[in-house]
Amino acid sequence: MTHDVVVIGSGPGGYVCAIRAAQLGMKVAVVEKMKTLGGTCLNIGCIPSKALLYASEMFDEARHGLGPLGVVVSPPELDLPAMMKHKDATVAANVNGVAYLFKKNKIDWVSGEGRIAAPGRVAVKGADGKDATLETKAIVIATGSDVARLPGVEINEKTVISSTGALSLPAPPKRLIVVGAGVIGLELGSVWRRLGSEVVVVEFLDHVLTGMDGEVSKFMQRTLEKQGFAFHLGHKLAKVEATGAGVKAMIEPGAGGEAKALDADVVLVSVGRRPFTEGLGLEALGVKTERGQVIVDAHFATNVPGIYAIGDVIRGPMLAHKAEEEGVAVAELLAGQAGHVNYGVIPSVVYTSPEVASVGKSEEELKAEGVAYAIGRFPFTANGRARAMRHTDGFVKILADAATDRVLGGHIVGFGAGEMIHEIVALMEFGGSAEDLARTCHAHPTMSEAVKEAAMAVAKRAIHI
Ligand SMILES: Cc1cc2nc3c(=O)[nH]c(=O)nc-3n(C[C@H](O)[C@H](O)[C@H](O)COP(=O)(O)OP(=O)(O)OC[C@H]3O[C@@H](n4cnc5c(N)ncnc54)[C@H](O)[C@@H]3O)c2cc1C
Repeated sequence: MTHDVVVIGSGPGGYVCAIRAAQLGMKVAVVEKMKTLGGTCLNIGCIPSKALLYASEMFDEARHGLGPLGVVVSPPELDLPAMMKHKDATVAANVNGVAYLFKKNKIDWVSGEGRIAAPGRVAVKGADGKDATLETKAIVIATGSDVARLPGVEINEKTVISSTGALSLPAPPKRLIVVGAGVIGLELGSVWRRLGSEVVVVEFLDHVLTGMDGEVSKFMQRTLEKQGFAFHLGHKLAKVEATGAGVKAMIEPGAGGEAKALDADVVLVSVGRRPFTEGLGLEALGVKTERGQVIVDAHFATNVPGIYAIGDVIRGPMLAHKAEEEGVAVAELLAGQAGHVNYGVIPSVVYTSPEVASVGKSEEELKAEGVAYAIGRFPFTANGRARAMRHTDGFVKILADAATDRVLGGHIVGFGAGEMIHEIVALMEFGGSAEDLARTCHAHPTMSEAVKEAAMAVAKRAIHI
């Protein structure tokens, strides 16, 4: 049978592309080599990490946050197997949900490893030993990414683990070294710190959460230090040796200098992710790649006609919702519509406590681009709802064009920041100004009033500070 589209990979890029293409009347197949649908995000990424982040936050809250509210509980105990069961059930509900959506949209799920034999032909090495060849008008590569490794550091998923191992540790390590102070390292470090581990972070750069607004990065480092994180910034992991009970990690200053030894039970290597294209046969086809990324044009087309690529395997932030937007856009383009992704307005969220959420430009980016900007800030310490919930850590920062008042960036550190950011996202999508936001009525008392106040602060007319 000939398909209109064969998608290789069923992560948020691939499965969303498949559903949108089916909605537009195309005959679609998805090839997936994992046992379940949903890719990294649903199986070993966004979803299980958020299940553990929420559960561990509740544990922490029960231990330290309830007393001051007048809720007296006996010290809570950790039932890690039950917490893992919650995580596994969350993953199962999500991956089964995708399988249901495939059935609903009459999408063929072909289980096995896909290789592009030629434009219009995908060879599948079946998971059940049966091989198949799919004929198709278009092929969409959505094979995602894999854990980036450090030379000479072997991941055994027991004492030296990747993010995947960090989602299934059998017990909280007494001491956990996290290599890399990016989103994944700080999120998974937070999980285990809340569950009782001592967490030491080693980061090559001199700041955490690289790419985020500098003020946000500094605030988060201080906040995490207060929570018990220790940071060795400007250091790199040189090697890891097994010791009787755990590991000895040798770290050395990035600028050169004396090495230090850190003992730990477990080392989490979270130094990023790399695009995954192994086994696709791209070289033989002449599909152009650069540093592992598949090169695409503005319409997600590779240099070989009929072959497209989306998600973590191409340029841009490695985020599930970015992959989803691209999945929708490429399906619409294949249907002759005008699919488009606005890369300037893709939010990113760090699910630490407090959360960090940001969209658009950071102050450093605006400075580098020579754009004149105005800043509006508002701290949650001055917000009534935040005080009522004892969630006063953090602030909202709005960056607007000094001449036009158009909002160019929004940064929120605070409880629920990942939800609040979306009003700034929607505003920016419509090209709104700080004044538009400032004149939008916000319900009282809500954390979101701080967003309005920060927008008012752009014109130096915040009311509550
Ligand atoms: C611990 C962790 C937490 C994360 N948290 C977040 C978060 O909170 N928010 C967020 O936005 N992003 C998060 N991410 C990143 C997010 O998971 C990725 O950006 C997203 O999954 C990318 O989607 P994708 O569709 O491009 O690829 P993937 O989700 O990686 O899916 C690719 C799929 O392709 C399959 N595949 C590969 N090669 C073949 C082949 N030859 N044949 C058949 N199948 C193949 C793979 O098995 C996989 O299922 C997190 C990642 C990790 C690791």
